[in-house]
Amino acid sequence: MKPIDTAPALIPAFKDLTGQIRFVEKEGKIWLGQQRMLLLQLSALSAVRREMIESIGVERAKGFFLRLGYKSGLRDAELARKLRPDASALEMFYAGPQLHSLKGMAKVRPLEIRIDQESGAFYADLEWENSFEVESCRAEGLHSDQPVCWTLLGYAISFTSFFLGRQILFKEVSCRGRGDAQCRIVGKPVGEWEDAEDFLRYFRNDPIIDELQLLQEQVANMRQRLQEQAGLFYGVGRSGVYRKTCSLIDKVALGNASVLLLGETGVGKEIIARSLHLRSERAGGPFVALNCAAIPPDLIEAELFGVEKGAYTGAQQSRMGRFERANGGTLFLDEVVELTPRAQASLLRVLQERELERVGDSQTRQVDVRVVAATHEDLLKAVGEGRFRADLYYRLNVYPVHIPALRERREDIPLLIEHFLEKMHASYRKKTLGLSDQALETCLGYDWPGNIRELENLIERGVIITEPNRSIEVEALFPHFQVEPQGIGLASDGCLAERSAGVEDDCIERLLDQGIGLDSIEDALIHGALRRSGQNVSEAARLLGMTRPALAYRLKRRGDARDR
Ligand SMILES: [Zn+2]
Repeated sequence: MKPIDTAPALIPAFKDLTGQIRFVEKEGKIWLGQQRMLLLQLSALSAVRREMIESIGVERAKGFFLRLGYKSGLRDAELARKLRPDASALEMFYAGPQLHSLKGMAKVRPLEIRIDQESGAFYADLEWENSFEVESCRAEGLHSDQPVCWTLLGYAISFTSFFLGRQILFKEVSCRGRGDAQCRIVGKPVGEWEDAEDFLRYFRNDPIIDELQLLQEQVANMRQRLQEQAGLFYGVGRSGVYRKTCSLIDKVALGNASVLLLGETGVGKEIIARSLHLRSERAGGPFVALNCAAIPPDLIEAELFGVEKGAYTGAQQSRMGRFERANGGTLFLDEVVELTPRAQASLLRVLQERELERVGDSQTRQVDVRVVAATHEDLLKAVGEGRFRADLYYRLNVYPVHIPALRERREDIPLLIEHFLEKMHASYRKKTLGLSDQALETCLGYDWPGNIRELENLIERGVIITEPNRSIEVEALFPHFQVEPQGIGLASDGCLAERSAGVEDDCIERLLDQGIGLDSIEDALIHGALRRSGQNVSEAARLLGMTRPALAYRLKRRGDARDR
């Protein structure tokens, strides 16, 4: 067994280490053995240190610099073994402190060192003079109440651990950086420290990105909630027709009048109903929505009014219906025309008497609910056909509000697109460049039978399909639909711009009225196609649905005609 070395002993000469340093000017490289080194101003590193502390906080910055030192110590342990193969363990170990001094990081003064490589016993007590990190902090005016020699410490830990082949932990027990008289470190095997685990976590990578993403998500959720509460969605739209609808809702919001929302499917009735709720005195109460068309007819009463245990097979326990859940708030009933006759009768009773009975129950319960109903069907027609009770119709139709279809408010399409893009970018955590000009133009010309819901679905699909930082092309939005050229410039309202359906009748009437001949139309079409294709004849021919030779022929004919 080797004797235990004890310091202070004879410190080996530096020469073997300094001899490893080579400045190779013509290559622009500095070498220490096989490692490429850098001469970097301390002031630059100091500024980075301050910036890191300010941007990610002391604890994370500390981890970063500890790991920086750790990686450097690892390399030097390798070098030490190679340079002093025949030396004693202590002499070999000294290469670490000496390299530290050589690199200008600190002058290491051993106070006590005990090494026994066989048993793995280790104890070191070292002093650092002129620590570069203490100077760094002073130069940047960084005050600390804990030790600051992080890089030096990380180096000592990894150098010693790899040198000995077992985990050694150092701690800086006093530091000039926090006002002590000297910087001193003590090193022992990790098992001999009680709080080792607390300290070792600094050596694990600590990706800040997860935390940032989590926070980002929370902010997005909060923002969405705030926007919903402020009724921002209701505010997406500047067109006259839409503002008129909103002002009708504003007028009826306070009070308890039943409101009937009319309009095509997908125009945003539920959002309007929610906005109405948020503007009413009931804003603090619940908002409950039910699509009557989505519930099987034989279950609709239980869904609306609740059910008592044993009322029918499958009713294994009593539960509240939507009316009771909406007590003190607002109940939104979409597709109200779908209610069964019995459900219609019960609904009428709740509206008139403000009371209900659960299915299979004889107890009468009081409820205070404001009903906002909606339908895309003509309710009066349903009354005429005997599908809807007339008395219920009049009760619901106190304040009808028509919500315009998207094609009636085309000027709002760009705003809605922006709104949905923002939403989808957030939820898919990717950013596109938005719609290409052609995609936007196609959206503006499209009729949107599914209205805002259709637009939202399309934008979602576009964001999913499109690569980050690319524009959403028309094909990403309308995959099944042949995009034909639009706006060929004959009429300012684009009457010829309709899709494959062809030229509209009234447009033809107008052209005939204006005495525009076939030749002029052909000229204008060809001219437009060439303009769009950048004078590329093949591409223009494709736009016009003809072969290149056919177009070339016509072009030649036009040229000849002009020449004559
Ligand atoms: Zn220190």
